[in-house]
Amino acid sequence: MSFHLAPQADLERGITTLGGRRLVFHCHHYNVFLQRTIEDALQERAPRLLVAAGMEASRSMLQGREGEAQSGSAADALRRAADTFAAQGFGRVDVRQLGEGGGRATLDHSHYAVGWVSRWGKRAAPGCFFAAGFLAGAVAVAYRLAPERVTSREIECVAAGDERCSFRVEVW
Ligand SMILES: [Zn+2]
Repeated sequence: MSFHLAPQADLERGITTLGGRRLVFHCHHYNVFLQRTIEDALQERAPRLLVAAGMEASRSMLQGREGEAQSGSAADALRRAADTFAAQGFGRVDVRQLGEGGGRATLDHSHYAVGWVSRWGKRAAPGCFFAAGFLAGAVAVAYRLAPERVTSREIECVAAGDERCSFRVEVW
């Protein structure tokens, strides 16, 4: 079994990939500024777009990684997704309460929440849209669900003053 937590660098071509998908690293300054720009422009339409974008990017990458892993249960796939998320510096997500029907997940040390607070202070509403999308993508890949059947929403967020970030994933 070959399963790499770390991205793979092709120095000849100057390309880094994870799960067969190209990857570019950005710091929290870039990520939260981009998010704020999108939120300012789209207002109430922004969360849905940001979660959907996070889901699509993550689902595609995680599918590639599951092809590399070639073994294990859906729970194993969720654990691998959580490890991948942590290894990229997005925080440690607890996926033990997620299953085929969705469920709840908690996130400690969220890159987006900590980054947002350090840049602009507290927000009025949860702001870890990428993490929400990632979790939806992880459930879709682990249980081989059509992506349109899975939704995810952050219900508590450190950036909004809550003790931790937590998410509700639903399968329709
Ligand atoms: Zn959050």
